[in-house]
Amino acid sequence: MNNQNNKNTKNNKNDDDNNNKKWKFGAVYIVAVLGVIMLFNYAKSSFYTKEVTYDEFLALLNNKQIEEVSIARDKITIDPKDGTVYGDKILYTANIGDKDLVTGLKSAGVKFSGPVASNPLLLEILITWVGPLLFFFLIGRLMFGRMGKKMGGGVMSFGKNTAKLYAENETGITFKDVAGQEEAKESLKEIVDFLHQPQKYTEIGAKLPKGALLVGPPGTGKTLLAKAVAGEAHVPFFSLSGSDFVEMFVGMGAARVRDLFKQAEEKAPCIIFIDEIDAIGKSRDNAMGSNDEREQTLNQLLAEMDGFDPTKGVVILGATNRPEILDKALLRPGRFDRRVIVDRPDLKGREDVLKVHAKDVKMEEDIDLTAVAKATPGAVGADLANIVNEAALRAVKQGRKLVNQEDLEESVEVILAGKEKRDRIMSDKEKRIVAFHEVGHALVAALLKNTDPVHKITIVPRTMGALGYTLQLPDEEKYLVSKEEMMDQITVMLGGRAAEEVEFNSISTGASNDIERATQTARNMVTIYGMTEEFDMMALESVSNRYLDGRPVQNCSAKTSARIDEVTLEIIKECHDKAKQLLKGNSNLLTTISEKLLEKETLLGDEFMSMVNESSEIPSESSDNTGKALE
Ligand code: ADP
Repeated sequence: MNNQNNKNTKNNKNDDDNNNKKWKFGAVYIVAVLGVIMLFNYAKSSFYTKEVTYDEFLALLNNKQIEEVSIARDKITIDPKDGTVYGDKILYTANIGDKDLVTGLKSAGVKFSGPVASNPLLLEILITWVGPLLFFFLIGRLMFGRMGKKMGGGVMSFGKNTAKLYAENETGITFKDVAGQEEAKESLKEIVDFLHQPQKYTEIGAKLPKGALLVGPPGTGKTLLAKAVAGEAHVPFFSLSGSDFVEMFVGMGAARVRDLFKQAEEKAPCIIFIDEIDAIGKSRDNAMGSNDEREQTLNQLLAEMDGFDPTKGVVILGATNRPEILDKALLRPGRFDRRVIVDRPDLKGREDVLKVHAKDVKMEEDIDLTAVAKATPGAVGADLANIVNEAALRAVKQGRKLVNQEDLEESVEVILAGKEKRDRIMSDKEKRIVAFHEVGHALVAALLKNTDPVHKITIVPRTMGALGYTLQLPDEEKYLVSKEEMMDQITVMLGGRAAEEVEFNSISTGASNDIERATQTARNMVTIYGMTEEFDMMALESVSNRYLDGRPVQNCSAKTSARIDEVTLEIIKECHDKAKQLLKGNSNLLTTISEKLLEKETLLGDEFMSMVNESSEIPSESSDNTGKALE
């Protein structure tokens, strides 16, 4: 109770602060506008009018240089004839009560008049003051209204939140639209049930969950799942990104959190979805670069989560791909205490995602989505949705009404390596090097035992920088990789450079990406997977953000680190030698296949393998002892 009061007082205080800000801002604006109008009037009058002395006026009168005069109580306004020194300016002078003035004007034949009976003062005020004021006021409203909307609802309501902009009363998305992710759906079903019939839970005395955290790599369908929860439960869906809260004004984020919860409570039961919650939920004990605004926002969020009535049925779903940096307070029971993992889909999951998206696209009858799923290990839902869409675009481009298998295969490659770049002109010599390089990879892969089959070799350049590439696809989904397989993978990666050495006895820059990947794999063998005798099963690196790029962080001494480099180098040298040996032993085969590739530009897996199998040279690793020599 007390708490509630405190909170209300705090709210009121914040509203007062906001009102104060509003008034200050309004006052400054009005003063500025008045200043501008005064300046404008002054400039206008000094441009069109000029003050003269009374005797200058009399001189003009005597010289008959006056057209017309208007006599007011305190001022005489003079319109001189053309050709005077004053140009076409209107002159004025003080009315000093000269009794002979009218006689003088009459004798000079000047038209003269007095002030008009109606109230010109009022008109003048209207024109010179009220008009411009109104004008500026309108401009001000237009400008700040727009800016304010972006910032959250107009200048006059700084803290108002943009959540309502993303609110949907009915998302129309159900669990059926989310393919795979069965475990995640299972955990979320409970929340749906709770939103449907909260009394079932409250009757027995169970506390209802307030929040769940959806954790997983980008594009795995976290937002989609949150929408599906709202859709299944038929409740409104409020969605905001964590970064929406963090504003340039301190205190705004907190005000937004308050507004959001206020709105949500009005609409309860409902779902609040906060995407990228790490933007506000970052751990507060981070000494470097602490951020007042973010911390205030986080504190407010924690306070609101504690404060709202759990029986009302407001459920907060947060999404993040960096759970390890979240503040512990956010994860404690009663807040985001549930963690729902939304990981990359496996083979079956990928096929399901493809099926969901294929439903919206017209496809030929005999489409094999399993093949596409097999070709895309590591792809997330968003990638797969993109692949289906790319395929549809390609079909339209080629003037077809239905998507075929080739469209899908090509779009997988577009996602992997970029679009084909047929207009890049390479010299014959360079083409030859690329062909040998690619066949080097493929041949090493074919000759080793623990490798994935070659699916395609091509020397058509792609926009993402590859001059050619060799596509290997696994037969089945693998969750474990053996040491032998890793060694063979490295050997295949180094096979491109080895082929250049064997054939041309020179090397090129073409292997840079292979080198990078091979080194990383070798290093992981040493530091993460404990695959060397020297370091045994010691953890030398740990993966920091496993849902993003999974970059490892080293945790060993500088001396050990130097030794890691040496051991890594040993592995690379071993594999490099092995690749060279294999290709040397099969140099005729290397040349034949490379010539064929040069001629056809693309070789499919079957064509390639039949050439390998026909060859009289060593067909596979089992009959040579190169592999054993390395162990
Ligand atoms: P996240 O929030 O995890 O970054 P999203 O939910 O925004 O990812 O997913 C982006 C898009 O990818 C979705 O709109 C949907 O088209 C597609 N998608 C991702 N995962 C799935 C899935 N499991 N089933 C169907 N579509 C998916």
